[in-house]
Amino acid sequence: MAEKTLFQKIADREIPAELLYEDPLAVAFRDLNPAAPTHVLVVPRQPIPRADAIEEGDEKLVGHLFTVARRIAEKEGLTDYRLVMNCGEGAGQSVFHLHLHVLGGRPFSWPPG
Ligand code: 5GP
Repeated sequence: MAEKTLFQKIADREIPAELLYEDPLAVAFRDLNPAAPTHVLVVPRQPIPRADAIEEGDEKLVGHLFTVARRIAEKEGLTDYRLVMNCGEGAGQSVFHLHLHVLGGRPFSWPPG
């Protein structure tokens, strides 16, 4: 069996994190190095490594990440916020287990740096 990813270990509570939400498909926890006053990661339990590994059969699961993100934003009192998914090292991905960043609580510029 493949070794668990960092985020699987967090989802399985083998590594501590501030867990805000969990269900059978996904978990959400605060980022260890927040880039905004609210910075939460929404992570599927299934360890899809990156956005370009998403398959057609994963569409429902990936859509679910967005409804979890909405719940997190509501819970955090965010009306304006940014959702980010980095794909590949060159785009800033450092953990190769799919995740959606929910960032809020400060203004964001466009285009991103
Ligand atoms: P990426 O760079 O892959 O898009 O995002 C990975 C995120 O995971 C980063 O924002 C990083 O701060 C966060 N992170 C890395 N290790 C840990 C950890 O052990 N716990 C938590 N809660 N977040 C982590």
